[in-house]
Amino acid sequence: MLGFGRARKAAVAGAVVLAVLGGGMRGADASTEGVSREDVVIRDTLIAAQESLLNVYRCRFGIDVTTVRGGCSDGLPTGGFSQPGEFAGVPTAGDLAVRDELVAAQESVLNVYRCRFDYEVDRRLLPQGCPAPPAPVAVPPGPPLDFDWLAMLDDSDWQPPRGLLTPTGIPVAVAGIVDGGFAVVTPCGNLSTVSTGRPLTGVRVVIDPGHGGRYDVGAVGPNRLAERDLNLTLSEAVLAELADRGIPAISTRTGDYGTLLSVRAGLADALGAEALVSIHHNAPTFVTGRRPGTEVYVQSVSAQQPRPDSARLGGMLHEEITRALSGFDNVAWSRLPDAGVLRVLQANGNDAYGMISRPTVPAVLIEYGYLSNPSEAALFATDEYIRVAAKATANAIESYLNSNRPSAVSVQRPRVFDPSPAPRVCDEVALE
Ligand SMILES: [Zn+2]
Repeated sequence: MLGFGRARKAAVAGAVVLAVLGGGMRGADASTEGVSREDVVIRDTLIAAQESLLNVYRCRFGIDVTTVRGGCSDGLPTGGFSQPGEFAGVPTAGDLAVRDELVAAQESVLNVYRCRFDYEVDRRLLPQGCPAPPAPVAVPPGPPLDFDWLAMLDDSDWQPPRGLLTPTGIPVAVAGIVDGGFAVVTPCGNLSTVSTGRPLTGVRVVIDPGHGGRYDVGAVGPNRLAERDLNLTLSEAVLAELADRGIPAISTRTGDYGTLLSVRAGLADALGAEALVSIHHNAPTFVTGRRPGTEVYVQSVSAQQPRPDSARLGGMLHEEITRALSGFDNVAWSRLPDAGVLRVLQANGNDAYGMISRPTVPAVLIEYGYLSNPSEAALFATDEYIRVAAKATANAIESYLNSNRPSAVSVQRPRVFDPSPAPRVCDEVALE
């Protein structure tokens, strides 16, 4: 999924919750067990307000949308806000206990959403704040991590590498040599220094696992599979396939941390890669059918013309991936009518997506399928899917690099769309 939707209604619904919480729990018309009807009504009102807010978050971020009664339209719950039910009978302590449990359960789901999207919603409502982000996954040490760059500096022909894998396994572009090591561009786009690293040289392909970190989860499936994790798993499998074929390739992201689009594109450009392939899974779900709704976005040379190398790579990827995914039986695929090899242009005629417009090297962005669709989300959670999708992706990249074969798939009429900007909030990770 690329970018988030609209709507500022969440904050309004948040205020409703606070107002109800502040309303007190004591009632005047006491009855059995000292429980009043008002105690029940206050809780039912709170429950309805919480449910409304949950549904606003679900629709806005394309998460758990299958739990929204009536679904979502235009980024908001189709059925409007939930209303409290009528309470009949004599209220008991049991009636309150059931409601208190539900209130607590809803509150904890709300807090999960607030922390997940805290760059724009309601994080201040959490008394203890949000849990710390998970540490990046360190890449197991490979062959020579250190190299004697000081000695190399004596050799006047020696140039610093254009990129490094830092000691914690973070791939970075090198900006220059400084006292004590290398000046590098961090995943969040700042300049920092590392003392050493494994040089990234001779890289032909850069794989980009879309999203990452707590501010940029991407789509989330009804099975709770997060796009940032799925993209990373698939990217690692693609890298393993490319390594088997002797194609030197690296990833823009090696763990669950945020990295800016400009940094991802800049790394591929710094390394002078022959291809940059960005890996994504789509949302929301559209009508379902029997063919995969795989979309591959390619670059433009002008509003009228696709860039030939990007279009050839994109065509080969679309062909291999849709053929491979069609082998999975009993999947109700989501699909838009113009799914295929596409350009997505802003109204001003420029490429809409940052991972397409920014790189100078030939780039494509793949939406393999719809993570928001329960049928596809179940498939994407399997090792078999990762194996099949990775192999198809590597097949296409290999043909692109090692042949002059034209693509059998042509680029369709451009889709015009102005996406919301990608999150720019970013937590730095340790580089060593
Ligand atoms: Zn995405």
